[in-house]
Amino acid sequence: MSLIADEVAKRRTFAIISHPDAGKTTITEKVLLFGNAILQAGTIKGKKSGQHAKSDWMDMEKERGISITTSVMQFPYANKLINLLDTPGHEDFSEDTYRTLTAVDSCVMVIDAAKGVEERTIKLMDVARMRETPIITFMNKLDRDTRDPIDLMDEVENVLKISCAPITWPVGMGKEFKGIYHLLRDEVILYQAGMGHTIQHSRIIKGLDNPELDGALGEYADELREQMQLVLAAANTFDLEEFLAGQLTPVYFGTALGNFGVDHMLDGLVEWAPLPQARNAGDLMVAPDEPELSGFVFKIQANMDPNHRDRVAFMRIVSGKYEKGMKMKHVRTGKAVRISDALTFLAGDRATVEEAFPGDIIGLHNHGTIQIGDTFTQGRDLKFSGIPNFAPELFRRIRLKDPLKMKQLQKGLMQLSEEGAVQVFRPMKNNDLIVGAVGMLQFEVVAHRLKSEYKVEAVYEAITVATARWTSGIDDRILQQFITKAHENLALDGSNNLTYIAPTMVNLQMAQERHPDIVFRKTREH
Ligand code: GDP
Repeated sequence: MSLIADEVAKRRTFAIISHPDAGKTTITEKVLLFGNAILQAGTIKGKKSGQHAKSDWMDMEKERGISITTSVMQFPYANKLINLLDTPGHEDFSEDTYRTLTAVDSCVMVIDAAKGVEERTIKLMDVARMRETPIITFMNKLDRDTRDPIDLMDEVENVLKISCAPITWPVGMGKEFKGIYHLLRDEVILYQAGMGHTIQHSRIIKGLDNPELDGALGEYADELREQMQLVLAAANTFDLEEFLAGQLTPVYFGTALGNFGVDHMLDGLVEWAPLPQARNAGDLMVAPDEPELSGFVFKIQANMDPNHRDRVAFMRIVSGKYEKGMKMKHVRTGKAVRISDALTFLAGDRATVEEAFPGDIIGLHNHGTIQIGDTFTQGRDLKFSGIPNFAPELFRRIRLKDPLKMKQLQKGLMQLSEEGAVQVFRPMKNNDLIVGAVGMLQFEVVAHRLKSEYKVEAVYEAITVATARWTSGIDDRILQQFITKAHENLALDGSNNLTYIAPTMVNLQMAQERHPDIVFRKTREH
């Protein structure tokens, strides 16, 4: 095997999708604990402990104790190298959250087992499904009273339209949580409460028939045996092909807080989750073990270092090998750039990277020259696809405090929209500027950056817009008719694409029915 293929085989690049408070941060901590990336779990998030997480770079992030933008963590586990891309979750939910999912090969879906499938999870699954990303499920908080496991899996199957194959099965719950039965290993692994900050060396009982089980579980032993008969007969068995096609998810049970079950899930990830995958560049597929470097930018973070007003573009490597000091072609501009200070993200610490391989993320410093969706190569003219804009879900009209600064505002907004910080729409019927976002904080970030980088003070006003769709017609005549009829609702986005601005979802539905020859898209490629 070539060096590159060797390195590719080692890597797993994934993200965690979950509804706020399901336990994503806690799981990330435990995962890093297993990766020896942190010495003691509980040091990641500043929000609760008062410490600041290492990924909190921006001033605003520090003030709020939240991480506005995606950070990347790389750590070893079971002879593999794992890249975990953090997906901003709470108030910091943004288009970056969605876009991060275009840069991973698999996802771990965390579900609060007391609550089941929640709204944000549904949205994120929709995005993951765009690329048929394989999903591993972790049912969390078994140390609390939760819902029935069968009921939970039914809900996942019905709401998220993905088959569930239990890999582990919980024994008891809440105060009576005893551990799990591992269906594939035929082992009962016992839970010990109060060991959440360490790696536990759990007692393992081999085989459901093992008489030791009665001693260890008491009355739960027979209950488990009975239940497993049922589960083994009725539940889906794990199928690698279906998993890789995004049609079936292996399901694990545990408690992130108690650090129990996270390692089972990681073992599944390492064993089954896909290696860094080939990627579409138009009609071309670029394989990871091709010798020449290529990659795409899925996220840009500004002002990571308050002393330097620079930006860091996060590039996922698709093929080849990055070496410090190498020359790359920035395909959109056609310029050759020498990169000597790309960043890597070993466990949240930024360090200069010597080399990186497919599946890895490197950070490229720039002063606004790089945009979301840009491709870098060693000379080839490629353009990777599948890093779209997502239809915003929140809208505001932006108004200047000083009307004379319209030029600066427009320039600032255009640049911020190219960077992917927010989306801008200019209605055809008037001179409004509408900004659209996926998360509330995006508005604040944009106001903050307009002020600090473009010296423009702007305020937001509420506006009745429910959603936006990028529109196109099969031919010019149909498009012109549509523009005349729907003029009131049409706008141009930051890159002059025609967009339908719908005041309500019902209005959108009616427009779609009225104009069957017009395509209404939820995403737009860069
Ligand atoms: P995130 O919003 O998804 O990142 O969730 P966090 O990891 O911050 O967890 C939200 C809350 O749930 C915190 O108070 C955690 O301590 C708690 N939590 C996380 N995992 C568990 C668990 O396994 N059991 C219990 N009882 N609480 C948990």
